[in-house]
Amino acid sequence: RSTFQPFLPGFGHRRRKIAILTSGGDAPGMNAAVRAVVRAAITRGCDAYAVHEGYQGLVDGGDMIRKMNWDDVQGYLTTGGTVIGTARCKAFRERSGRLQAAKNMVKEGIDALIVCGGDGSLTGADLFRSEWPSLLVELVENEEITQDDADEYAHLNIVGLVGSIDNDMSSTDITIGAVTCLHRICECIDSISSTASSHSRAFVVEVMGRHCGWLALMAGIATGADFIFIPERPPWGEDWQDRMCAEIKKHRDLGKRKTIVIVCEGAIDSNLEPITAKGLMDLLTDRLHLDTRMTILGHVQRGGKPCAFDRNLATMQGIEAVEAVLSSSPDIPSPMIGMNENKITRTELMEAVALTGEVAKAISRKDFVGAMDLRDPAFNQQYDQFLALTLSAPNVGKKPQQSLRIAIINVGAPACGMNAAVRAAVRYARNLGHVPLGINNGFPGLVAGQVKEMEWMDVDGWMSQGGSELGTNRDQPSLDLGMVSYQLQKFNIHSLLLIGGFEAYTACLEMYNARHLYPAFCMPMVHIPATISNNVPGTEYSLGCDTSLNAIMEACDALKQSATASRKRVFVVEVHGGKSGFLAVMSGLAVGATSVYIPEEGVNLIRLQKDVTHLCQRYSQDAEGKSHGRVIIRSEAASKTYTTDIISAIIKEEGHQQFDSRTATLGHIQQGNSPSPLDRVRAVRLAVCAVDFLLSHACDISSSASTTSTGTGPDVYNKDPDSIAVAGIHGSSVTFTSVEALLKDTDLKNRKPKQSWWMDYKRAVHLLARRTDLV
Ligand code: ATP
Repeated sequence: RSTFQPFLPGFGHRRRKIAILTSGGDAPGMNAAVRAVVRAAITRGCDAYAVHEGYQGLVDGGDMIRKMNWDDVQGYLTTGGTVIGTARCKAFRERSGRLQAAKNMVKEGIDALIVCGGDGSLTGADLFRSEWPSLLVELVENEEITQDDADEYAHLNIVGLVGSIDNDMSSTDITIGAVTCLHRICECIDSISSTASSHSRAFVVEVMGRHCGWLALMAGIATGADFIFIPERPPWGEDWQDRMCAEIKKHRDLGKRKTIVIVCEGAIDSNLEPITAKGLMDLLTDRLHLDTRMTILGHVQRGGKPCAFDRNLATMQGIEAVEAVLSSSPDIPSPMIGMNENKITRTELMEAVALTGEVAKAISRKDFVGAMDLRDPAFNQQYDQFLALTLSAPNVGKKPQQSLRIAIINVGAPACGMNAAVRAAVRYARNLGHVPLGINNGFPGLVAGQVKEMEWMDVDGWMSQGGSELGTNRDQPSLDLGMVSYQLQKFNIHSLLLIGGFEAYTACLEMYNARHLYPAFCMPMVHIPATISNNVPGTEYSLGCDTSLNAIMEACDALKQSATASRKRVFVVEVHGGKSGFLAVMSGLAVGATSVYIPEEGVNLIRLQKDVTHLCQRYSQDAEGKSHGRVIIRSEAASKTYTTDIISAIIKEEGHQQFDSRTATLGHIQQGNSPSPLDRVRAVRLAVCAVDFLLSHACDISSSASTTSTGTGPDVYNKDPDSIAVAGIHGSSVTFTSVEALLKDTDLKNRKPKQSWWMDYKRAVHLLARRTDLV
């Protein structure tokens, strides 16, 4: 949903003045939100203001409330923390402080306030709005403002943006800053892991989160930790210490050289007693005699520049906040901008704040089931999945009725998260008593019989590794369908898990279409999309695309810095993506590109003319000697004629003395190195659900005595189209859609889905680059 329109709205007779402040703890992405609010407000014909130092600036007034121009927020995207400052303001908690704040706002003529902060800040904001009429009455009585002022500013608009690293706010799936914080935590734990392995040590790592275990849980999944402690779900039973030690000993007995335990700062046991990093360290030392160290990550977690996800989240939410201001009326409750089901949403601010408080209340009355239920459904599912991958999972050691042999194959170009998915599938299948088999080197490897059983420890350390440990290539089963079928039967494989890009989808189609010729292809198969291009149908995100976006973002940040240093340079950056513009658009938004060229739109002379005219205008507006570097992103397949070199040459020629142009083709660097936390977490989620899918299909079939038999194992053959599916992420759910059903949504020629949900984001790129000519 994209509602922004570049026209100039009136509000009665005066120009709207919209202020933004950042409050509470700083969170990476707050600057991106400020930038988006300022630019969206200006585009919509409003004046934008920044209130410095949070509510303190509102109380102090004067120079703390400053008008913002378009260029004042240049460079904000890449900066961590909050440039306009934040503070914990005692005065605003008192009515007298809020009275002063109201006076300052009326004096400045500000009638809309966008607050970016945590639940405390948003509570304060809503209180401010509810008191607003009475504050005005009091100010008139005190003769601090006139009755005319009071009439003119009778209605105060408040909009909340959730800037909080804890991801502890209800009514939104994610808060600004949480994913960057998870990046910092995973970087630290990855580093700790290498030293832990080297010395065979145990580490207890404390992460932030007072009432919310989101960071600890996601970090636990993303780093493959041995044990985690979160406030919402204390370790069950009085003997949890024994069980933790037994669990870690099991891991050690299997050959693990490192032990990682993650504890949230608000972790408690079921009696509400704190579980501390120090206590856990002593436990591991005393009971297991492990050389144990403790690391409290502290403020490292909040720091640094925001990741691509937070930049884009904050940007889209900032734009939406301005729209919410402009569509608000006195009878509409203050909205909070959130994200649900992968869409930017508005919910009632006060309701969200109240729900958030319920979690802490549920914990304090030991209602842990209630506390977990108050989190989003994905949180619960992911906690269970974390447990399911450990050796203390309830099913470990239980023999299933029928042990299935599940083969895993990587297909297509490497993508970060492939290994994490293989790891999760292998461990989950093993824990359930089934037999995972790894196929090396894609379909040529299968044809050559490169298949082997995988043990729990075979995938140790795979979570943080990029590329494909199994080996991958683009070859299709059609290279030798008969041999592929023969090998599947020879190795007595009952189901197939394909992890890969569009080639994995077409491989599934080939086998599906050949079911009538080769019974082996009648086994259940599932495809987990893994490609940086994010062009597989049936999913909003594929594994690897988040890592790739971050890799592109890092490169573009460096290029922009270089371009800025040389004062007048435009970089035309070529990115991957095949016929899908996903990477170009999303990285364009994350780096503040001036323009993006995508295959969906192509490039033509009119568009190039517009871009050159825009660049000439912008460089002529830059302050003397302070021109900024600019970046244009071009998808590799945007145009056959207007190549990256040609576009750059045109820009250079037309820029004359004003600016020049260089190209940068990022190539395979875009595959990234180590998978991003989001790719790891998505990999685990998809892999566990995919194994469940295979098991349910195989077991359903074998228990209903189907007609075709392998002769050597459970009978899993069935021609049901639903038994070959793509596992997809849709909002907060994992879905399975048969490859056949997806055909109608697929553009096979251009190798992508027919619809692209991210096209709205392209308008945001242009809006924030002042490209009203393109929006
Ligand atoms: P974080 O999650 O990072 O702690 P937060 O927004 O919850 O962020 P708080 O310290 O609770 O952080 O609140 C920030 C500021 O918001 C406070 O310093 C105060 O000025 C204001 N504030 C918080 N709660 C209230 C309230 N109930 N009434 C008025 N103002 C409040």
